[in-house]
Amino acid sequence: MSTTTSTTTRPQHAHPAGTGPVVPTEGSAAVQRPVARAVVTGGLWHHWQQLNRTASIPLGIAKLSEAGNLTNLRLAAGEPLEATHQGPVYMDSDVYKMLETVAFELERGDDDALTAFVDEACALVAAAQAEDGYLNSYYQVRAPGERYQNLTNSHELYTAGHLFQAAVALARTTGDQRLLDIARRLADHLVEVFLVQRLPRLDGHPQVETALVELYRCVGVPEYLELARRLVEDRGRGLVGSHPAGRLYQQDAFPVREMTVVTGHAVRAMYLEAGIVDLYLETGDRSLLETSQARWENLVAARTALTGGHGARQLKEAFGEDYELPPDQSYNETCAAVASIHWSWRLLLATGEARYADLVERTLHNVFAASVSADGLEFFKGNPLQRRADHALSVGDPRWRDGWFWSACCPPNVTRLMSSLQHYLATTSGSTLSLQLYGDARIGAVLPVGEVDLAVSTALPWDGSTRVRVESAPGAEWTLALRVPSWSPRPEVRLDGQPLEVAPDEAGYLRITRRWRPGEEVGVAFDVSPRLTTPHPRVDAVRGCLALERGPLVYCFEQADQPDGVDVEQLRLTGDAASVAVERRELDGIGATVTLTVDAEELVDAPRSGLPYYPGERSWTTRPVRATAVPYFQWANRDRRAMRVWVPGPAAPAAGGAQRS
Ligand SMILES: [Zn+2]
Repeated sequence: MSTTTSTTTRPQHAHPAGTGPVVPTEGSAAVQRPVARAVVTGGLWHHWQQLNRTASIPLGIAKLSEAGNLTNLRLAAGEPLEATHQGPVYMDSDVYKMLETVAFELERGDDDALTAFVDEACALVAAAQAEDGYLNSYYQVRAPGERYQNLTNSHELYTAGHLFQAAVALARTTGDQRLLDIARRLADHLVEVFLVQRLPRLDGHPQVETALVELYRCVGVPEYLELARRLVEDRGRGLVGSHPAGRLYQQDAFPVREMTVVTGHAVRAMYLEAGIVDLYLETGDRSLLETSQARWENLVAARTALTGGHGARQLKEAFGEDYELPPDQSYNETCAAVASIHWSWRLLLATGEARYADLVERTLHNVFAASVSADGLEFFKGNPLQRRADHALSVGDPRWRDGWFWSACCPPNVTRLMSSLQHYLATTSGSTLSLQLYGDARIGAVLPVGEVDLAVSTALPWDGSTRVRVESAPGAEWTLALRVPSWSPRPEVRLDGQPLEVAPDEAGYLRITRRWRPGEEVGVAFDVSPRLTTPHPRVDAVRGCLALERGPLVYCFEQADQPDGVDVEQLRLTGDAASVAVERRELDGIGATVTLTVDAEELVDAPRSGLPYYPGERSWTTRPVRATAVPYFQWANRDRRAMRVWVPGPAAPAAGGAQRS
């Protein structure tokens, strides 16, 4: 396994405040803080980050020129071009997301092309900004008299939020203040309009709230936090305006403390939640935290796909009702995966509870990772858990990967999260360093007792063996905390080769406190035995089905892997977990993987005639087969044939028969 990175890592020294996307202020309510420095050094995540750097990001930068995003800014700057403004109202946000991406890439290592993009984009954005700080190329070019007149749908504050996040990232990772100066001028303008003059309107797409809090954290201007507070507190009071999609869609149906569940547009809902938790972290208002936590608990219990996907309905890209989780028609937008990770990560910082990292891990390894093709050049907007063989596929189907989109929210959301993955690995709390996600990495933390440097190496997600080596440590006592994943509740732990009895604490961590010496090593054997997973009986769409999981990975059955003549849509699993065979393989189009092969039956259907419904019980003719599954994140890289995560389980007992266990 590679333990080196081809990028030169910067910064070389621990930056006590951290350089990631979320850095709560000293004295905030955060009980966990991101570590000072982390670098992914090998394994699957390093592969993903290199693919992002060498394929997805160059593609994205090229698309910003092709799709007109950069031309739009030139037009806003008044350049005399034979061109018109292209694309939707939020085109500028794609430029900002790519700038944020590149900021984290430049932290990972220098690159002339990336630096040239930053120079070009910063100059364009600076030139486009209006005298009074306003900045949105669509309204500057196409509707100059309509500023903030159509906030229901104009995304003006949403777009500003993405600029703020990019500016903070660039300043933190490289020290480059150019974008931050632009961001502050725009933020000052927003403070004047929405806080001082108190224009009684809200953006229909939350996002600026979390971004304003981060800008406050970065530059310390209290009005930015105040503005975020106003924009959160005013939700649910009808200030977004009317829109055919309705107030639920716009996240304007209930004041934030009166919302009991996440509803409406999934991405809007979860960006808002990230802002709500950020506001709690900086103000200590526990009513914000507690109501957000309650919604998160319902989200996990009844509105989350097995893959971590969110948004059961394609219609309005929305959450469904409790247990409404169809595998085939679900939307599970890629941006919702990113927003969910943002929300859960902030809840982790607020509470220190492992369950939040658990959802981040599930989301990251499954729905998020599946959104990118194996070559890094195509992206899903929607991420279903089932594709039927006869599904009508067309270019632009949001549930099929494409190189870019007219509404290109998802691809640069993928790139910016991938570039900043290292910032989600570990946290500190007092003299405790906690590992939250497991990947090959170097982690540097500044604890009250001194600086600690760790090297983590792991075979995850393919196998469970993980080693944490202390590279440097102060002489004093401190605690290493290891998150216990829900899929391996009792991992074996060794300290320098000797078995160590340690049980998870209430928050879900194994804690080892000692005077660590450089060279000491903790070995953890996580259990990655394949699991047959059963849905809650109220998840109607997959009642009676089973799914295969292993470690953090959800598996799926693609037609490409089944024996000749076996139709993936006619499969039924026997439910025999002991029959699962694990095999490490290289597959064309996918690359390295671990497949699972399991006992199954193929239904042998009668010819089609009449309705597909029958009186009373009906038994089916079946034949035994072996079915093969691949990790869900690797699906749709070979062909467009059928796929399913959930597969019908063993036949139900005859009426009146004993319940099967
Ligand atoms: Zn999206």
